[in-house]
Amino acid sequence: MLDHPHATPEAPCLDERALARALSGRHLIGGRLVPAGSGKTFPIHNPATRQEVAQAALGDAADVDAAVENAATAQKSWAKLPARKRGALVARCAELISAHVEELARLIALETGKALRTESRVEANTVADILSFYGGLGSELKGESVPFAPDVLSVTVREPLGVVGAIIPWNVPMLLMALKIAPALVAGNTVVVKSAEEAPLAVLRICELMNRILPPGCFNMLSGFGPECGAPLVAHPKVRKVTFTGSAEVGRIVSRTAAEKLVPVTLELGGKSPMLVFADCDFDKTVAGAITSMRFTRQGQSCTAASRIYVERPIFARFVDALAARVDAMVMGDPLDEKTDIGTIISQEQFDKVRRYIDEGRASEGAGTRACSRLPQDAALREGLFIQPHIFTDLPNSSRLVQEEIFGPVTCVFPFDDAQAVLAAANDSEYGLAASIWTNNLRIGLDLAHRLEAGLVQINQNLVVQANLSYGGVKSSGLGKEASLESMLEHFTHKKTIMVNYG
Ligand code: ADP
Ligand code: MG
Repeated sequence: MLDHPHATPEAPCLDERALARALSGRHLIGGRLVPAGSGKTFPIHNPATRQEVAQAALGDAADVDAAVENAATAQKSWAKLPARKRGALVARCAELISAHVEELARLIALETGKALRTESRVEANTVADILSFYGGLGSELKGESVPFAPDVLSVTVREPLGVVGAIIPWNVPMLLMALKIAPALVAGNTVVVKSAEEAPLAVLRICELMNRILPPGCFNMLSGFGPECGAPLVAHPKVRKVTFTGSAEVGRIVSRTAAEKLVPVTLELGGKSPMLVFADCDFDKTVAGAITSMRFTRQGQSCTAASRIYVERPIFARFVDALAARVDAMVMGDPLDEKTDIGTIISQEQFDKVRRYIDEGRASEGAGTRACSRLPQDAALREGLFIQPHIFTDLPNSSRLVQEEIFGPVTCVFPFDDAQAVLAAANDSEYGLAASIWTNNLRIGLDLAHRLEAGLVQINQNLVVQANLSYGGVKSSGLGKEASLESMLEHFTHKKTIMVNYG
């Protein structure tokens, strides 16, 4: 149904630079790719070369208003469609995304610097999986009958909330957006997404593809900066639900604005996720698990990255050596090269921030530092935002590297002697997103799983977000859950009670 005033490729496009240019300078409002009302744009860079690859539309409050008005109009008829029909349309979107996995993977690699093989392609496939999962859940939007009195039929029905404002970050923007739009749409809401200023292109392409299937106005997207475009979206009176993934600092701002309007918010914020490794673990499996848990293939730019690893003392030294050797063997390079394991940091700002943490760790008295892997030697990548992964040992608990979310390729490893002490250390954090425990003693594993302060605890594995498993943190890591049936019911509908007195 997409009206095409602006030429973007009809078929999957594997020329990521051409696709980036074609998507330049546009929001998607009411089923049309349109420029910002002000006509202004801002540049998007490839972090591996620092070259400009596109211009994005610079959204402001007027653009927000246009998008929300379109979404509000569309919502009335969208909500009237049978729920299974809405689901079926979202499931068709999943198929279309599946057919575009390769182009989306290349485009997200271009704008974020995430390696194609280890990260970008995986993310694009997961988007299709999440859309297909929610596409099948239309018929689960059920209410209940409630016993009240003999001549009174009392039932609850699930109703959509209206227009949903969704604000997303740059680290896994396609996936984190899918976790919001899919349940919101199936439940009968319409959405306005504000993309992250660092990575607006692949999500815009997804929006454009889905607008070929969805009625116009159901799924709108704006690009722009937080205060100028995100804040007016949260504050807009017709936005009846806000869902946000990003920093705890901005999460608090978003939450305050939503509180003024008395609308519900879901917040997925940061993490400082611990990994607890016991001496009786399967050593090789656990080292491999630590490699994926640290998310170094994504330069550690993950809320659930295992950024604190506690290892039982008898295997501590061997574990650190094995870990460093494995990271040394990983290839840093051009994100679009199939050989590359580790791509780049997203932006100069993040690069400087991560470097400051690393410098601080190196300067910490008595700390052990291992800088692993090798910076790429290719001249074309000389300006790229590459950082060697760092593994620190012997840092004091008070260190900022141990307490704060770095969002970079940095992990701190500590020895421990006692399960109770390590539990206390793991819980000694402002955050509570995820944790993992590695042991063959399930009595200890399950005991700790129940006592760790985290939204997600895994024993002997550490998978990323999975469809159908509630995902979301406690403490400063956020409010509410995503990725599951319950998250759709609890966060994108309200229950209305209807009573019929037939006596
Ligand atoms: P990061 O520091 O990793 O960029 P942020 O929390 O700053 O994480 O950004 C996450 C998202 O929140 C981005 O889309 C950003 O534009 C948006 N954002 C930033 N500030 C605000 C704000 N004041 N109101 C609404 N959205 C904002
Ligand atoms: Mg920011």
